[in-house]
Amino acid sequence: MSAKRGTIFALSTPPGRGGIAVFRISGPAAGGALKALSGAGLPPPRQACLVELRAPKSIAPIDRGLVLWFPGPASFTGEDLAELQLHGGRAVVAATAAALAALPGLRVAEPGEFTRRAFDNGKLDLAEVEGLADLINAETEAQRRVALDQLGGALSRVVEGWRRRLIEIAARLEAWIDFPEDDLPAGLGDEVALQISGLRAEIEPFLTTGHRGERLRDGLMVAILGAPNVGKSSLLNAIAQRDVAIVSDRAGTTRDVIEVHLDLSGYPLTLADTAGLRAVAAEGGDEIEVEGVARARGRAETADLRLVVFDATLDLAAQTATADLVAADSLVVFNKVDLAPRPEPIAFETNAVFAVSAKTGAGLEGLLDALAARAEALLGLAGGAPLLTRLRYREALVECVAALGRSERAALPELRAEDLRLALRALGRITGRVDVEELLDSVFREFCIGK
Ligand code: GDP
Repeated sequence: MSAKRGTIFALSTPPGRGGIAVFRISGPAAGGALKALSGAGLPPPRQACLVELRAPKSIAPIDRGLVLWFPGPASFTGEDLAELQLHGGRAVVAATAAALAALPGLRVAEPGEFTRRAFDNGKLDLAEVEGLADLINAETEAQRRVALDQLGGALSRVVEGWRRRLIEIAARLEAWIDFPEDDLPAGLGDEVALQISGLRAEIEPFLTTGHRGERLRDGLMVAILGAPNVGKSSLLNAIAQRDVAIVSDRAGTTRDVIEVHLDLSGYPLTLADTAGLRAVAAEGGDEIEVEGVARARGRAETADLRLVVFDATLDLAAQTATADLVAADSLVVFNKVDLAPRPEPIAFETNAVFAVSAKTGAGLEGLLDALAARAEALLGLAGGAPLLTRLRYREALVECVAALGRSERAALPELRAEDLRLALRALGRITGRVDVEELLDSVFREFCIGK
């Protein structure tokens, strides 16, 4: 999507039936469109007015609703913007869309086009735009808080602060380069190097938070591992409290990876039930199952957390393949304790062990508490510093820190200045100050129409 002008409109609420439907119209013809539909003059700015909306040149009203008028630049997009709040019926929406489309100079907005205009007009920078996208997609409290902060400029302020300091350092360095040899102020080179290393030391801690922000945005991936029939699907169902996985007595029925998204104490978790990790070929599993097991292995390897499930009714000696899956940070689960009231003491010294019954629900609370605690530890919002919720922020900071390091070590002031320019460019990419054309399309495509 390249920057296009004109006046755009879209339904900004989800399509379908609802209490109200909100249309937005943005661009130079927005005021004219509002007047044409309401058959009156423009309402006072930013005040809700109840009006009867009609298709231009028609007598029969479409609906009665509230209209709002935001003259630019004091609007979301920075342009003249009108908002229509109508009854949320399909016919009302269809008639209004038809009436708007019939007006000269108006066209339906592309996905993300309102926000694109807000960006183009300097209302939001790129990190704020992405905060807005995340806020719309936020499913849990922790995601909502981080997204709202980012939309409010928390990350942008930090990055812009670094950028301004870097510009000052670069300016001093340039001045130094331009000084005639013999007039060089003593110690200026050392001072600049010191400032660069000071800045680098401030940025580096943002890179050592263990992908916390990205995990928070995507949800913590938890893989449920174990042999067929130990009750992995049943456990997933019991945890999710809804029927999502097929539960059956036949071994190996969970063919693929089945995911359930959970909100645990405000943190997002994705539980993935994996196909039983048995030796498929030896036991005559079919091709689909082979594929299922391969995917399960892949999922297990990339997961942030692993629940390794044993069958409490079976000897531990018969479950060595499962025991092999237990890593230092796995949660060990013994399922079916309802059938084995006194499971043998378990030899996993370093792991938390949970005795549960997917059937009766016994022990599940303790397991969920432990999962929530792990989520808090891995995703918790530490110290209020903004999180890097996207890989591209991390990559930009990695690049910036590397360029700063090179700049500190550079032998010649000219080389030092060149690396500072690269560091600046990397920082600028986060907020969209430089070099962003190729980024913009992918960022704005995340939005739905009407945003
Ligand atoms: P999976 O192959 O590991 O996903 O195992 P399933 O969830 O399909 O369960 C296999 C069988 O064990 C099913 O018949 C379940 O009803 C049964 N099952 C699972 N969990 C429990 C449990 O906690 N107690 C009892 N008694 N049966 C269970």
